[in-house]
Amino acid sequence: MADEFDVLIVGAGPVGASLGCALGDTGLRVGILEATPWGGAIQPSYDDRPLALSQGTRRILDGLGLWSGVAAEATPIQHIHVSERGRFGVTRIAAKEQGVDALGYVLSARSLGAALRERLEALPSVPRICPARAIHISREENALTVTYSLGDGQDSCRTKLLVAADGGQSSVRELLGIGVRKRPYGQMALAANVSPSRSHGHVAYERFSPDGPLALLPMVDNHCGMVWTMEESQAKAYAAMPEDEFLQRLGQQFGSRLGAFWQVGKRVVYPLALLRAERQICERAAILGNAAHTLHPVAGQGFNLGLRDVAALAEVLVDGLAHGGDPGSVELLETYAAWRYKDQSQTSFFTDSLIRVFCNDLPLLSPLRGLALLGMDLAGPLKDRLAHQAMGLTGKLPRLARGLAL
Ligand SMILES: Cc1cc2nc3c(=O)[nH]c(=O)nc-3n(C[C@H](O)[C@H](O)[C@H](O)COP(=O)(O)OP(=O)(O)OC[C@H]3O[C@@H](n4cnc5c(N)ncnc54)[C@H](O)[C@@H]3O)c2cc1C
Repeated sequence: MADEFDVLIVGAGPVGASLGCALGDTGLRVGILEATPWGGAIQPSYDDRPLALSQGTRRILDGLGLWSGVAAEATPIQHIHVSERGRFGVTRIAAKEQGVDALGYVLSARSLGAALRERLEALPSVPRICPARAIHISREENALTVTYSLGDGQDSCRTKLLVAADGGQSSVRELLGIGVRKRPYGQMALAANVSPSRSHGHVAYERFSPDGPLALLPMVDNHCGMVWTMEESQAKAYAAMPEDEFLQRLGQQFGSRLGAFWQVGKRVVYPLALLRAERQICERAAILGNAAHTLHPVAGQGFNLGLRDVAALAEVLVDGLAHGGDPGSVELLETYAAWRYKDQSQTSFFTDSLIRVFCNDLPLLSPLRGLALLGMDLAGPLKDRLAHQAMGLTGKLPRLARGLAL
């Protein structure tokens, strides 16, 4: 038997790696098992996709000692502008109105990955087992044994708590016998960096275009992180289109607020589905991040939600440890799951509702959308609520999300 852990995290994507950083200094014996080579270019999560990070996420990353490493690249969002092409309604949210320096920040997943890796490497107490895949789980008294492939062979370890953070296609979730509710959207997200001729002015645009929701997020050097969701064949066609033609299409659908688009980086497409694991916990295991809930990227909430789960689970485990608790005990896991249920359900419902309302061609809905956007712009409390939700500052927040130590 190679190792014995209190917590074994499977998956070193943004969620699993963040949990590793959170638990690394707590006295718990933590290990991370990752399918791809450490720091390798094939790690799928750390590509150039733009991540909109909420204020709550910023605080959590700060508490984990990660923010200082990404602050120079994290571009503040001063305004959010939501509109629909060809309709009169617009919703505008300003950081100043909300009494904050920024409504959120935009960072590439690649930069976040580099900071997470650097932090984990500085935590010698968190061994990394990779490239390795969990292939079998067996239960024994007070622990789980996880068998994994490693190179040409196999090895195994025991853990009191197993955390499945191995993404939407989670094989650990399957090995644990946990089913999912999954609804493919029949859409793909097309992501790329684009350069506009005018300054982005730190505005995050969400434009409901005829092809589908188009987000343009402010990034460093006046780049914009584009995430454009559309029907699958259209997304593939846009990804393969000559650069000039694509930039022209983008300009036609976005309008002239940012001037002309003159450059586009690598275009990548992602299939989209709404997914929720039927259980977030089971005996000695918790499911986290995309493995627990995969969201449509329209509202930029997937990682933000996953990180709030990380902060909550870490808090429950640390408090349990202070009382000499077993990290895999039913009581701790149930405390975690009950705490996170509301936020997970609301965030998933909110994101899915946006898609149902704004990607719907029913003739009656179309004018109502314009009215809803206008109404939202005028109705202060509703707008404030939306802003607070987007900033990740609603509900029962973990200590880290309140700016306190873990
Ligand atoms: C285009 C796009 C834009 C987005 N924009 C935003 C945004 O603005 N804001 C936001 O909050 N979120 C955003 N998201 C969502 C965000 O990217 C995800 O929520 C996040 O990547 C989930 O991280 P994760 O660690 O749970 O899963 P993943 O990123 O999928 O990582 C899973 C990890 O597990 C490893 N793995 C898989 N199987 C195994 C196995 N059997 N054994 C060991 N390891 C395994 C993988 O190699 C990988 O490293 C966006 C997503 C997309 C597609």
